Amino acid sequence: MSHPSVTVQPASDAPDLAAAMLAWYDRHRRVLPWRAEPGRGSDPYAIWLSEIMLQQTTVATVGPYFRDFLSRWPTVADLAAADLDQVLHAWQGLGYYARARNLHACAKAVAGQHGGVFPDTEAGLLALPGIGAYTAAAIAAIAFDRPATVLDGNIERVMARLRRVEVPLPDAKPILRAHAAELTPRRRPGDYAQAVMDLGATVCTPRKPRCMLCPWERSCAAHRAGDAERLPLKRAKAARPTRHGVAFWAVRPDGAILIRKRAPEGLLGGLMEVPSTPWVEARWAATDALAHAPVTAEWRLLNGSVGHTFTHFHLELSILVGTPTDTTDAGVWVRPERLGEHALPTVVKKLVKHALAGLKPPPTP
Ligand code: SF4
Repeated sequence: MSHPSVTVQPASDAPDLAAAMLAWYDRHRRVLPWRAEPGRGSDPYAIWLSEIMLQQTTVATVGPYFRDFLSRWPTVADLAAADLDQVLHAWQGLGYYARARNLHACAKAVAGQHGGVFPDTEAGLLALPGIGAYTAAAIAAIAFDRPATVLDGNIERVMARLRRVEVPLPDAKPILRAHAAELTPRRRPGDYAQAVMDLGATVCTPRKPRCMLCPWERSCAAHRAGDAERLPLKRAKAARPTRHGVAFWAVRPDGAILIRKRAPEGLLGGLMEVPSTPWVEARWAATDALAHAPVTAEWRLLNGSVGHTFTHFHLELSILVGTPTDTTDAGVWVRPERLGEHALPTVVKKLVKHALAGLKPPPTP
């Protein structure tokens, strides 16, 4: 794999550390839906699916989605044959829909170009859609027991503490990678990678690491120095900007709401939305916003706004409500109780909830 290369002092304690970690894993491994029983081979399809779902999401959130996907599409060929809209719908709530589109594209590539069998090397995996360096290493290690260097946030934290690395992230990444590579054993590298992930998730946690339970307690430089919780250091982040948008809540006299499909590319591509202006840095003036209205109507502003934070920006949406006088070709008209049948991203679900609550007639005394 091509990563900035840094060499570290060969660590004479590496074999002992790896052995201690594997022994700890044999006693304390987490039971996870995609993890094979001890001594049984992993299913590359299950490992790949779980790794894509776990990017930016927690184990607890992923569990039900993982089971649902496996029951709907038990093999990579089944997933490849599925309709993209069905996949996006099943993905709802996991966020980052580009990953779901890539997941489907990857299943098609494996089914179509590899006879339904995942490549068993990092390089082969990296050539597939949606598989980056970390995921390729994780699948190569976990599914195929390759001595790949797996480095996620958990493992970075453990390495920074074990070797007491004082360089802040992200500059520290090549150093942490070199330490991780140095420790990866030739024997049971897949179990070793999962062991360090588990240690980071359950023992070497960001706050209050439980060093007394750690198999590396006696070798860990940060623990010895008493400053584990301070590490890893992080370079100060740029503030997340706020963008503004105006959504158009068009309600037909029969109660149906207007939604439409977003363009296939870009943020939330291919998903359904309540029509809105583009999302921009300045607040919208009413006349500028109305130029983006999807239908002609008398629009009025609903109280309050809807906030949603994406990875790179925070969004504030105001909502204009109107009953259209012209409804041709503007999108899809859906009764509110049937909105759940469409692939709505979280921000749109929030908007729907806010609008329905704001328009509910007040209770009669
Ligand atoms: Fe983390 Fe503590 Fe173990 Fe060091 S001893 S690796 S700080 S849990």
